[in-house]
Amino acid sequence: MELPAEINIKDFAYITRRRLRDEQGEPKGEVFLWRRKGEEEFNYRLKCPYCGTEEESTVILKRRPYRLKCSNCERSILIEKLVHK
Ligand SMILES: [Zn+2]
Repeated sequence: MELPAEINIKDFAYITRRRLRDEQGEPKGEVFLWRRKGEEEFNYRLKCPYCGTEEESTVILKRRPYRLKCSNCERSILIEKLVHK
């Protein structure tokens, strides 16, 4: 997956890119999660490690550790750590 071309790193409050592992520990998925400065919603691009579905959406995340939910298999996906830029 590629980050959107319009992204400019200085506009970000948070951004992370992580590989996601399935139950066997295989890095089958990937997530980009970011929030622009001044915005409440996080944007994400997700490849689910469990079912392989790729999706792009927005979500409001309040408490760490952040979790996303796959819209296809409905598994909860833990984002273990965010890098603060
Ligand atoms: Zn899934």
